[in-house]
Amino acid sequence: MGKIKRSFTKASISEPAFVALVSAALEAYDKETLGAIMGTVYKKKILIKHAVAYQCAIRKLEEVSIWPAKEKKIRDAINALTGYKILGDFHSHPDWTCVLSKHDKADMIENGTRISVLISVGQADGNKIPWGYDKDEKFLYGTLRGDFLLNIRVYARELNSKRIYKVPIDCPFVTSMNKKALY
Ligand SMILES: [Zn+2]
Repeated sequence: MGKIKRSFTKASISEPAFVALVSAALEAYDKETLGAIMGTVYKKKILIKHAVAYQCAIRKLEEVSIWPAKEKKIRDAINALTGYKILGDFHSHPDWTCVLSKHDKADMIENGTRISVLISVGQADGNKIPWGYDKDEKFLYGTLRGDFLLNIRVYARELNSKRIYKVPIDCPFVTSMNKKALY
């Protein structure tokens, strides 16, 4: 990730990435999921083109981790198969807020992670909420068939800094989800 130098102004989430992120978070629910996000960076914009969950992640209710050797294997395989750069990671917060914990922030700094996607999952209890984007709080939200309420945030860390900030998100796919009433 050596070429990324400046703050990011936008993170675009592609359809395959969105589907992978949401399905990984739902599959692991009510445990956390953990995985890698892949894509490209153009100027100050992040393009998240794909995401892959780590199957060997050690899942707990409020923490998830993976052995570094396994993580390296997966990263190398993804890079070889897709040619995409590993941009960072993603994890979920089952029944919890869509805010990075102190532990999450410390991990980003310690591991040198630049970009981290967070998905919170909760029960929607039959309430269907169309997908939308909160510009002020910078998160995507919506339900899936009224079963689960999901929030998605993209966090980034300044290069050589401990400053972690929320990146504005663009995800055109949610518009087609709304049209198809998949929420
Ligand atoms: Zn977390």
